[in-house]
Amino acid sequence: MNESDRPSAPGDEDGKGTETAPPAGGKTLSRRTLLKAAGAVGAIGAAAYGLDGLGIFGKRERDIPDPPPGSMTRRVNPRNGDAISLLGFGCMRFPMLPSAKSPNGPEIDEEAAIRLVDHAIAHGVNYFDTAYPYHKGMSEVVVGKALARHPRDSYFLADKMPTFSKPTLEQAKEIFATQLERCGTTRFDYYMLHNVQSVEAYRNIYEEGGVLAYLQEEKAAGRIRNLGWSFHGDTPALELLLSCGVDWDFALVQFNYHDLEHGYAPRPGHRPRPGDAEPPPARWFLERMVESRIPMMLMEPLLGGRLARLNKKTLAILQAERPDASAASWAFRYAASLPNVLSILSGMTYMEHLRDNLRTFSPLEPLTDRDMAVLRKALDGFLSQENIRCTACGYCMPCPYGVDIPSVFTHYNRCIDDEQIPKEPRNAAYFQARRAFLVGYDRSVPELRQAERCTGCGKCLPLCPQRIDIVAELARIGKFVETLRTQV
Ligand code: SF4
Ligand code: SF4
Repeated sequence: MNESDRPSAPGDEDGKGTETAPPAGGKTLSRRTLLKAAGAVGAIGAAAYGLDGLGIFGKRERDIPDPPPGSMTRRVNPRNGDAISLLGFGCMRFPMLPSAKSPNGPEIDEEAAIRLVDHAIAHGVNYFDTAYPYHKGMSEVVVGKALARHPRDSYFLADKMPTFSKPTLEQAKEIFATQLERCGTTRFDYYMLHNVQSVEAYRNIYEEGGVLAYLQEEKAAGRIRNLGWSFHGDTPALELLLSCGVDWDFALVQFNYHDLEHGYAPRPGHRPRPGDAEPPPARWFLERMVESRIPMMLMEPLLGGRLARLNKKTLAILQAERPDASAASWAFRYAASLPNVLSILSGMTYMEHLRDNLRTFSPLEPLTDRDMAVLRKALDGFLSQENIRCTACGYCMPCPYGVDIPSVFTHYNRCIDDEQIPKEPRNAAYFQARRAFLVGYDRSVPELRQAERCTGCGKCLPLCPQRIDIVAELARIGKFVETLRTQV
């Protein structure tokens, strides 16, 4: 890439905001020393991501101060010199208009989304990640409009070829042309094979179908600057990607402290799906990525928002150590300490999400050994709950029988976090908790879309990147709800 093509980097001007990615071994090579004082962090409102816009400390956007300009930490891509903001803007959770203002179905609140993008750019964010299916294609359109207000060389735009739609070569060409048009651009800085889940998908679409060769031609023509992949697949697919001889420029992968520190294993009673190859264990996966030396962008550092909205006991452990830090900031600081990480994506819906994240990354304060000990203790508390690992991504939707899978799981998880799961009928608080659970359930999920409507057809199962046994979990919740309803 030509020097002049590189985005300007406000944090680079004096080099203060720039780091090299932490190398294998996990030691962070920050040019910034730790924040001078806890007071410099300021009073940070925690963000209840994907929820109601009210921080878990009850703070709204006006209460969260912006960090000083030019203080965003950037990491330099060792392969091409791109100075990328450590906070990346994931464009799959833009703010939505209220239903009264969008009679034809869910619609992005464009004004609010543009405000967020403007604010992010003004505070040093320069990496934006969208995809063909996000917001049913409207994410690309809105991010294109928002970024058109800024010089093209001041940001990096990432997009993805939708593997799940199994495109033929001709369809892939059409999709790529549509993406450029929707985003109003002539090039993607970072472009991915989206969610390569299996060896079969990679071989059929990208090798035999010729889509990889086509994308490599686009790269040679300059319409793709960096070619990589995003991944939620099984172990053989990962091994294939790492050994197929393609010199990938980067990868978008999922790591967070929940998965890495306790080594995610399905809960007892979990039934593997027929023909399911096991997903790579997180620690092994990270080691393989580090060995491969492929620069990484991270997704799901908050496990779909779950790590931003911890139960009270877990949160109390973190707050005792850092009263003003949000739960999300702990998860981001952990993710940022992993080796070879260039940018960490966050899907930000509200201004307080963005402001809280800006405080976390401007500049990054790496986790200390003491912080790690506190985080592990908090994680023990979190794991004692029987949460469902749903990130509310919506990939399993729509269900042909109308079940609102993410809303069912979100309500259940939220009740667990708030310790509102009615358990023991002899307990005095049981009937109050039972009522709260059922009223909340009916409010958040219309009756015709509840767990009990699942027929067990299994259509959703292969679509879930978290490999949740959706049928079994819905049956469990359905039975639980039925028991609650019949108990008087
Ligand atoms: S298994 Fe249940 S939730 Fe999944 S698609 Fe079929 S009916 Fe819908
Ligand atoms: S069940 Fe799986 S696919 Fe569906 S919303 Fe949750 S994580 Fe996403």
